[in-house]
Order: sequence, then C-alpha cells, then structure tokens
Amino acid sequence: MKRVLLFAGTTEATALADRLHEAGYDVISSFAGVTRKRRSRAGRMRVGGFGGAAGLHRYLADEGIDVVVDATHPFAARMPFNARDAAAAAGVARCRVLRPAWAASPGDRWVTVGSVGEAPGAVRRLGARRVLLTVGRQGAAAFVGVDDVELVVRSIEAPTGLPPSATVILDQGPFDVHAERQLMVEHRVDAVVAKNSGGTATAAKLVAARALGLPVVMIDRPAQPDGPIVGSVDEALDWVRTVAGREGR
Ligand code: NAP
Repeated sequence: MKRVLLFAGTTEATALADRLHEAGYDVISSFAGVTRKRRSRAGRMRVGGFGGAAGLHRYLADEGIDVVVDATHPFAARMPFNARDAAAAAGVARCRVLRPAWAASPGDRWVTVGSVGEAPGAVRRLGARRVLLTVGRQGAAAFVGVDDVELVVRSIEAPTGLPPSATVILDQGPFDVHAERQLMVEHRVDAVVAKNSGGTATAAKLVAARALGLPVVMIDRPAQPDGPIVGSVDEALDWVRTVAGREGR
C-alpha cells in the first residue's frame, strides 16, 4: 500500500483522509495537538510536532512515507515550509492544499492588513469601540494589552491574557448568517476582525457584517512555500493519484 502522510487540522484534511482511505492508500493524518477536540477519521492518526524539518525528514524515512500532502490551515505559518524542506530532502513528492482566499464583494467594507499584529492598529484607526475577534486563540494574543476597545472574542479554545472586560464565546463552525447577524447585534459590535481563511464554514460572518454595514479588518494569509498547490479535496486526490498511482494498493 502507498503510504500518505497528511498534515491535518482543516475540513479538507478530514475529507481527504476519507477519500484516500477509500482509494486504498495507507493514510496517516498528522495533528499538531493544539486543540483537544478531534473528530475521528479514516486511516491512522498521529499527534504532535516532529521537531522541525530535520525531525520530519527522519520520520518520512523511518515510516517509509511515499507522498506528503500538506492540508494544514492557510494560516499555518511554519509547517508548510518544514513540509517542503523535509520532503525535498527525503525525495518525497509533496503538495499544499490551499482553499481559495475570500474576495471582497460589493458592499463589503474591508480593511486589509498583512498580519494579525497589525489588526489592533487598524481597529483603532476605524474608531471601533466594540469588536468581534474571530482570529483564533493564538491570534487573540495580538490584542493582549488592548484596553481602549471592548473585545468580544470567539474561539474554539479560550485565549489567555485578555483584559477582564473581554467577552469570550467558545464555539466552533460551521456558522450560519442568521446566527452571526444575531451575535453581532446582541453584542453591539461595530467592527469584525477576521483572518482570510477562505472556505464556507466561517464565511457567514462576512455576509452578516456586509448586511449590517460593519467594517471588517481582514488579515491576509502568510507566505506559502513554492511548489504544487491544489485548491480542493478533488484536486488533491488527483495529484496523489498522479504521483503515486491511481490506487493505493
Ligand atoms: P504552524 O505555525 O505551521 O506550526 C507550528 C508547529 O506545530 C510546526 O512547526 C510543527 O511542529 C507543529 N505542527 C503544525 N501542524 C502540524 C501537523 N498537522 N502535524 C504535526 N505537527 C504540526 O501552525 P499553527 O498555526 O501553530 O497551527 C497548528 C495546527 O492547527 C495546524 O495543523 C493547522 O492546520 C491547525 N490550524 C491552524 C489555524 C491557524 O489559524 N493557524 C487554524 C485552524 C487550524 P514541529 O516543527 O515540531 O514539527
């Protein structure tokens, strides 16, 4: 059986594990271990970092990995580069699965910034008083010490270090437009901060913000390594079949 190492943490990775397993590949889904809740999936699972590109290179050799598919989140900043370097060193084919980014539609009031560190400044320049932060537990760290804007933070796991006045809502997508609109109205937010994750699971907040006329501070994606990029689960499966053969067995 052809062995595929799949870097996970996204809805694409969950679906791809199923598809690869069905197609007869021996798929190992790899998780960083940052969230405690993890849905079970087809194939095998492993959890935890490898110790950088060198550790990953050793793992690829020790486990006899034939193909690497990097389906980490578009905002995973390090793993895609480690995957590229380790796979190149081991002579193993690798591709990046990257869903298309969101683009502004008519009526959107987006202010785009290059990193989450620039978001508090953009919020202040907008003159916002109460913002909905949807940038994850790690991203919320950029707002530690921001005490002149009220924060309504939604994340899967609780962020730490925020001012006591921050309202924390623990929740996980997918979200729908009606509930997102209600949330924004109920918490009286006057701006939204979001990462340009793309995809459908968390896009409803953008529709709700547009309908309410709220500005969105949109954080651009980090740089991606060179090499093949596919935009969907179907394309990823096709790529694996091209490099490793149509069937895993
Ligand atoms: P990162 O900056 O690229 O990764 C940091 C370190 O975590 C990596 O160097 C690696 O450690 C380890 N790691 C990351 N992904 C891994 C994986 N799938 N399997 C094993 N080790 C992994 O990524 P991050 O932003 O911390 O995100 C961590 C995970 O959460 C990713 O798998 C990502 O798909 C998921 N996630 C991230 C976001 C986000 O907004 N950043 C959102 C949703 C889900 P070693 O160097 O020791 O190997």
